Amino acid sequence: MHTAQEWLEKIRALPLTSPLKIMNVCGGHERAITTAGIRGALPPQIELIPGPGCPVCICPEEDIYAAIQLALQDKVILLAFGDMLRVPVNVSKQEARSLEQAKALGGDIRPIASPMEALQIAEQNPKQAVIFFVAGFETTIAPVAALLAQGVPDNLYFLLSGRLTYPAVAMLLETGQATFQALVAPGHVATVMGANEWTFVVTEHQLPCAVAGFTPESLLAGFYSTIRQYLDKNYFLDNCYPQLVTAQGNTTAKIYLNEKLNIIDANWRGIGIIPRSGFALKESTHDARYHFPDYASESRRRAGEMPAGCDCASVVLGKIYPNQCRLYSTACTPRNPIGPCMVSDEGACRIWWSGGVRT
Ligand code: SF4
Repeated sequence: MHTAQEWLEKIRALPLTSPLKIMNVCGGHERAITTAGIRGALPPQIELIPGPGCPVCICPEEDIYAAIQLALQDKVILLAFGDMLRVPVNVSKQEARSLEQAKALGGDIRPIASPMEALQIAEQNPKQAVIFFVAGFETTIAPVAALLAQGVPDNLYFLLSGRLTYPAVAMLLETGQATFQALVAPGHVATVMGANEWTFVVTEHQLPCAVAGFTPESLLAGFYSTIRQYLDKNYFLDNCYPQLVTAQGNTTAKIYLNEKLNIIDANWRGIGIIPRSGFALKESTHDARYHFPDYASESRRRAGEMPAGCDCASVVLGKIYPNQCRLYSTACTPRNPIGPCMVSDEGACRIWWSGGVRT
């Protein structure tokens, strides 16, 4: 095992003379890179670009709008992970612009930190409908599938806005929109789905790829591997997080996902429909979209645009860096967020701001 300093020295010793852009696909990666100052420590020809690693940032506006209306109009108990509460939608000035504002208007909206809390709240309120609005990637959705498999109270419903990570990367590569020449794949997602899910980056697109964990050592090992592959023109999927990631992933979690959820074409906020990139409940019994169709059904889909001037979609797709948005750190700050990327803990704009980037 090398230390972070040793990995840095190995990277600096590589004969890389031309620019190389490496994308990461995980808010946790981006936070670790920014917090540890890895970007500034690497040779200047290596660019690290954050990609589609924030599920809250791409949660469709229509789903957030539906959650707001379910809390205000249908008077359900609405549960969501905390960073979803401040995400803004485009509505008239008279309407609640976020779940936080809907809560201030009297909606029973409760931030929670885990699916088990949803279970407890439903059990404590058996006479009320409880809707768990879940936006998340595979790591968040697998526990929801496990909960469904084990059985939940009759009054607990799910407004599911779950997404898979790899189809967004595949879409970028297949449509020629990719700005990167190497990929560091998300370690958390790979613990569930398996490293092999990322093989397509190598076999179909002939790009270097490594799965990395969240320590500077693991991330730097991933960067070293991809740079080395790039220089050698010898591409393979390198698992730099073998402590937790296997080729096949977590078999039990995958069984729950397959048993309880379908894979569907899904809308990504500001980006559009990405084929087979979303999760949907297989059964209607606990599906809020089935039981509360006035607000949560597909037929009520809205435009799904970003707020005016917000470049979150381009940030999420790695087309620009957060500070290339003209609103970054001027009109848009964590105290007054314009777009979802400045709200969520996994949003690149928020991470860069927290890391001290101001221009
Ligand atoms: Fe959107 Fe704000 Fe980020 Fe600009 S800085 S992309 S407005 S969240």
